[in-house]
Amino acid sequence: AARTRQDSLQIYRPSMGEVYRRRFQLVTQFRQAIEQGRIVVHYQPKIGLADRQLIGVEALVRWMHPEFGLVSPAEFVEAIEATGSIDILLEHVLDTVLRQLAEWAAQGVRIAAAVNLSVRNLMAVGFPGKVNDALRKHGVDPALLTFEITESSVMEDPEHSLPVLNRLHALGVGLSVDDFGTGYSSLAYLRRLPIDEIKIDRSFVMSMGSDLGDLAIVRAIVDLGHSLGLRVVAEGVEEEAARDALRDMHCDQAQGYLISRPLPLDRFEAWLASRTVT
Ligand code: C2E
Ligand code: CA
Ligand code: CA
Ligand code: CA
Repeated sequence: AARTRQDSLQIYRPSMGEVYRRRFQLVTQFRQAIEQGRIVVHYQPKIGLADRQLIGVEALVRWMHPEFGLVSPAEFVEAIEATGSIDILLEHVLDTVLRQLAEWAAQGVRIAAAVNLSVRNLMAVGFPGKVNDALRKHGVDPALLTFEITESSVMEDPEHSLPVLNRLHALGVGLSVDDFGTGYSSLAYLRRLPIDEIKIDRSFVMSMGSDLGDLAIVRAIVDLGHSLGLRVVAEGVEEEAARDALRDMHCDQAQGYLISRPLPLDRFEAWLASRTVT
């Protein structure tokens, strides 16, 4: 019986060799996947907590892989981060998102979008200039675009990231600190950064209903953000109770499965249409 159990475990757990083989494949196949249109952008809505109106979307990539199925960015972004492919990914996501924002604007729908940056994207030579070029190419109001950068990536090398963030801010795009609460930011540095928003890490939000410590952390982050003049967004909102508690704390915006999962474009537009028709 013990042997059977071990055998069945092996079905569910790939060996280390398989993990590395898959990772190697993802890294080597990435550029071709971009060319073949297999790297797609899904959109997850963000709503205002006071009025539940749609404010914008976060762009989240997925890889439609012929062998592995839908591959999460949690797996492949990390794998390509050590290669130049991370810049190709950003170029692709930025172009896709800005084209979409321009199309929505032409239809009279004002939607903002957030794009995730890896630290390598931020540090790439000429990055703010490329962002400016892309905004002009698509004729998109810079105020509709926000970049999300993780707390740890900004804090990794603040002397170098600060001037880049200042240049992005000068373009008029928004800056958001993602996964807030999981890193070790110095509050003195946080105050020096030209940021508009912090996003409370979903690990705290998802357990705030069952863990008083996490509830206290969420409350403290909301208050800290507001006292620094920042907008505060909670991600990972899965339950009505969490949404209501966040609203009562005056957290500004919410994102999470309760509102919607990240959706492919056509399904996001259907979600939007079903909400607008009252
Ligand atoms: P993130 O930036 O923290 O994105 C939020 C993640 O939380 C997304 O996972 C989203 O699907 C998930 N999420 C949203 N609401 C809920 C909820 O209510 N419950 C739970 N359990 N999860 C929720 P996803 O799409 O798998 O993305 C994972 C990470 O991959 C992202 O974390 C981000 O760091 C990275 N990523 C995604 N797209 C890009 C991209 O275009 N460029 C870069 N550099 N990284 C990206
Ligand atoms: Ca994010
Ligand atoms: Ca996050
Ligand atoms: Ca993250």
